[in-house]
Amino acid sequence: MTSTPIPVAVLGPNGRMGSEACRAVDAAEDLELVARIGRGDDLDAAAQAGAEVVVDLTVPSAAKANVLWALDHGMHAVVGTTGWDEDALAEVREALDRNPRLGVLIAPNFAIGAVLAMRFAEIAARYYESAEIIELHHPAKVDAPSGTARHTAAAIARGRAAGGLGAVPDATETDPLRARGAVVDGVHVHAVRLRGLVAHEEVLFGGVGEQLTLRHDSFDRVSFMPGVLLGIREVASHPGLTLGLDGYLELG
Ligand code: NAP
Repeated sequence: MTSTPIPVAVLGPNGRMGSEACRAVDAAEDLELVARIGRGDDLDAAAQAGAEVVVDLTVPSAAKANVLWALDHGMHAVVGTTGWDEDALAEVREALDRNPRLGVLIAPNFAIGAVLAMRFAEIAARYYESAEIIELHHPAKVDAPSGTARHTAAAIARGRAAGGLGAVPDATETDPLRARGAVVDGVHVHAVRLRGLVAHEEVLFGGVGEQLTLRHDSFDRVSFMPGVLLGIREVASHPGLTLGLDGYLELG
């Protein structure tokens, strides 16, 4: 028995991620790309085309409004756009309270290796006194630090708390130029923007006389597509807000 394909609207179809997502949805037999909504296009076209899932791969300044619009129109949302803060997430949660049947997945990284690296970082965190993150991206990225780095820092903070660790050791007294990077959940995060890169992250753990490095590289945006497709297929079965693709995976 064949089931009806899930109708999908992609927001940001002309971007680097959005164009790849359109190709991936088009190629999937169980999905149907019914609308492509670019900057300045009318979002109502997604509703008129009967979309059930909206995929947002736009810019941080547009994503929240897009998701709220999708929820108000009875659609699930799969979001890869980064740059979310607590206030914006709270608005999404309020909209979901009004539409408890609907699901929203906000995934800072759809690549399976990046999701695994974040999980591994949480496991390793309790065993190392020091932890720092270096995220490396192409120079057209508009937000820093990356959503993946923020998510990784939160995972490390959870691991450290579970292990009873306090603040990382750091004797720095003066740093007027912020050479020590941003501090996210107590973890120093350094952002590199370099021509030729796509999306990369290193997590450095330091203990007495040893270092553990976790590194993930996305060399091509196709690496994100299995995660995007998984999100589209699963979002209706996960009502409410899910932060991170790990919420849809069995990672133990
Ligand atoms: P990009 O190439 O700049 O594409 C963004 C696209 O969104 C552009 O085509 C832009 O149109 C369009 N846009 C802007 N506002 C819009 C709106 N209101 N409605 C519809 N379209 C709109 O960026 P990208 O590299 O594809 O990245 C997109 C987002 O995904 C970023 O936030 C990035 O950090 C994130 N990202 C996530 C993952 C993940 O795995 N979750 C991986 C990579 C990137 P114009 O060209 O007219 O400006």
